[in-house]
Amino acid sequence: MSEITVCAQPPAAANYVGQDGLLYCGRCGTRKQVRITVPGFEGVQTCLCRCEAEALDRARAERELEKRRDMAAQMLKQGIPGVQLSAMTFDRDERPEARASRVARRYVEQFAEQAARGHGLLFYGAVGAGKTFLASCIVNALVKKGVPCLVTSMSRLGNRLFTCREDRQEKIDGLSRAKLLVLDDLGTERRTEAMDELTMNVVETRLQAGLPLIVTTNLTAAKLEAPGDIHMQRLMRRIKSVCYMIEVTGAKGPNGKIPPLNTGGGVGP
Ligand SMILES: [Zn+2]
Repeated sequence: MSEITVCAQPPAAANYVGQDGLLYCGRCGTRKQVRITVPGFEGVQTCLCRCEAEALDRARAERELEKRRDMAAQMLKQGIPGVQLSAMTFDRDERPEARASRVARRYVEQFAEQAARGHGLLFYGAVGAGKTFLASCIVNALVKKGVPCLVTSMSRLGNRLFTCREDRQEKIDGLSRAKLLVLDDLGTERRTEAMDELTMNVVETRLQAGLPLIVTTNLTAAKLEAPGDIHMQRLMRRIKSVCYMIEVTGAKGPNGKIPPLNTGGGVGP
């Protein structure tokens, strides 16, 4: 049988023996051997040089990221079906300089800090302005980083949760597995007492867990400032306590013109 030697790394710049008699890596110049002296044993053992150790760390981190990405992508599939989520990415944003777009990209960049504070975003604006698009861009960018996100709506949650009485709270608590939850189109669900209760429950569970939420809604600034009924007042107060309000004005107006950007102040994330 012939002997085959498999080298983990091709011997690039040749390894060399140092003055201490140990083997050194020709690439990074650190030891590939250590001298071991314990009572009854004296000898030399191979060890990882710095570049090998770094390569191992990199490979491990990549595998870890890959795993988290897969899990995050898996979770995303539980969200709203029919929405072409994966197509909604920042590189397709036709108005990257718009304020809402800039806030969205910054939110991704600062996600770790924002999430630690439980801070999210409230995108509001007219139908077709691109609120769901921006929320989905954020989600896709985070999933790529291995952050588990879920995009859903109260209508959809209602459909799923009203059928299960026993483990409803369990399912609501389960939403906490998503590091970021997007509630799309809040305010368009059919309002009933049970739906109001469920909405409040979902938002409250989220907030109490200190987890961030992104909400998109067609409600106008005026409606958000002064919601008509007690439920909406409570709900919006809770959401606004942790979500930065940002108007999305990407849609073309009736005369084909793009409405002016909202340049209101406020502390952005
Ligand atoms: Zn090396």
